[in-house]
Amino acid sequence: MNPGGNDAKSSSSMKLPIYLDNHATTPVDPRVVETMLAYLTSRFGNAASHSHSFGWEAASAVEEARRQIAGLIGASPGEIVFTSGATESDNLAIQGVYDAHSGKSCHIITVVSEHKAVLDTCHHLEKLGCSVTYLPTVSDGLIDLHQLRDAFTPATILVSVMAANNETGVLQPVEEIGKLCRERGVVFHSDAVQALGRVPLDVNAMNLDLVSLTAHKNYGPKGCGALYVRAGTPVAAMVHGGGHEHGMRSGTLNVPGIAGFGKACEISLKEMPEESCRIAGLRNRLRDRLLAEVNDVRLNGSMEHRLPGNLNVSFRGVEGETLMTALKDIAVSGGAACHSDKVEPSHVLKALGLSDDDASSAIRFGIGRFNTEAEIDYVAGRVVEAVKGLRELVG
Ligand code: PLP
Repeated sequence: MNPGGNDAKSSSSMKLPIYLDNHATTPVDPRVVETMLAYLTSRFGNAASHSHSFGWEAASAVEEARRQIAGLIGASPGEIVFTSGATESDNLAIQGVYDAHSGKSCHIITVVSEHKAVLDTCHHLEKLGCSVTYLPTVSDGLIDLHQLRDAFTPATILVSVMAANNETGVLQPVEEIGKLCRERGVVFHSDAVQALGRVPLDVNAMNLDLVSLTAHKNYGPKGCGALYVRAGTPVAAMVHGGGHEHGMRSGTLNVPGIAGFGKACEISLKEMPEESCRIAGLRNRLRDRLLAEVNDVRLNGSMEHRLPGNLNVSFRGVEGETLMTALKDIAVSGGAACHSDKVEPSHVLKALGLSDDDASSAIRFGIGRFNTEAEIDYVAGRVVEAVKGLRELVG
């Protein structure tokens, strides 16, 4: 299936450019579009309108989506709070727990390789007097659980560690982190944006209290996210107004987006096991060809604890920006697309111990649902040719 409508199974019918940037955003699955269409047209009601059928229809779509999203992470539907996306979910989780504890001395533990939505929120709270420990990552991108254990203080109110990194795809030991937090009665938040629909998530098995999610990284629409909030977790509202979402996030709900997000999660629940295997196969195919045909390639981050569709590699001596310019028919990313307006070496790769040069020569390939073997073979050939050509130019 190809969302663009072309059959990319053979190179002769392959449509260019090829999209391999599925960590930045994913194409919207046609089944999701179909679900959303009704709520953009005839079923346009406001889910908060309790006095007529337009409102009831919208509210029922929202409740169905709550069930579908909760089903994918082992939660109860009532624990899903809809937001505008994961940036807001991260802010609500971290700032919300801080505000709920306001007045008391507090300490938060997070990791240097988190997304900016987490790091910048923590920097903001530091200015308000909260102390924050930023754990380092060890060389393959994972945190050291001993260092986490040592970082807890009596004032620790929150640990925020992402499930999967958006640049390297590295998976953190979420279950073990959850256990450490639960033993100490500390709230555990995870930004699971990149993990949703790609690897299994279970809020109970993993002792997760707060989980940030977004639809557009899982074949759903942009501008629609959620925060899983375990019942009883103290989270103060950031957005005040009509008291929607149990008073935790006011504002008219984005019903078409929410219905699409729900459908996307329902699809993932059914298709993830097979899809993840197929995508990991494509990723390994790309990796093996690059390693076999290009010298001096560095694989960034653990290959063992990694999302199936992620490959992050540095082609030594070749500037990532220059390589991407040479690969105009392939959409990849050099750093995290979320803050790509800043031209500085990625903080995630620097945290892995890469030099500025190696970090600047990194390319992130994000393989997704609609990529085919023919596309991967084409991309491998183009990258090999471009890297060799650029290296010859610089002698
Ligand atoms: N967290 C991670 C790990 C991400 O990759 C992103 C987006 O790239 C976000 C948060 C922000 O999500 P949103 O675009 O829904 O605000």
